[in-house]
Amino acid sequence: MIIDLRTILRAPRHFEFTLEPDWWQCRQKNDQILGFSTPLTVRIDISKAGNKYVLKGSLSGRLVIRCGRCLEPYDSDLESDFSLFLTCTESDTGKNELELLEEDMSVDFIKDDEIDLDEVIRAQIYFSMPMKCFCSEECQGLCPMCGTNLNKEKCECQQESGHPGFSKLKNLITL
Ligand SMILES: [Zn+2]
Ligand SMILES: [Zn+2]
Repeated sequence: MIIDLRTILRAPRHFEFTLEPDWWQCRQKNDQILGFSTPLTVRIDISKAGNKYVLKGSLSGRLVIRCGRCLEPYDSDLESDFSLFLTCTESDTGKNELELLEEDMSVDFIKDDEIDLDEVIRAQIYFSMPMKCFCSEECQGLCPMCGTNLNKEKCECQQESGHPGFSKLKNLITL
């Protein structure tokens, strides 16, 4: 959703909508977020404070995430509140704009007095993700030798775990 920032004044404007599961597009090859399993509810208030825009909002829904150990998809609740301050670029030379970009990453979201809420939401979903995502604490992951999903079946490689090299590797993977 594109918001024209010239319509935003000091009093907050409220936006509320749902994004359907097909809204999510994986952009990276190994994106850990595969999509939503329910529509995502988005609530955002946008107001202006000086030369900044204040975004306060919340996201609520269920994500489909790829497990960091076994690579299988699983569902995870997403409940995220956020506040963002976006700076408005009023520079007229390319040089100033570049300096601003380095100073304030969030300027990425604003282009020609417009803000793309989709990009804000997308970034916020990534920020809300834990560093490591596992389908369960007990997930056994994949065999480092043959790639078998050890939650589903056993492979032959495990029987050689007497080798110190393997047990070290095994400990690393089950950490
Ligand atoms: Zn897993
Ligand atoms: Zn194996």
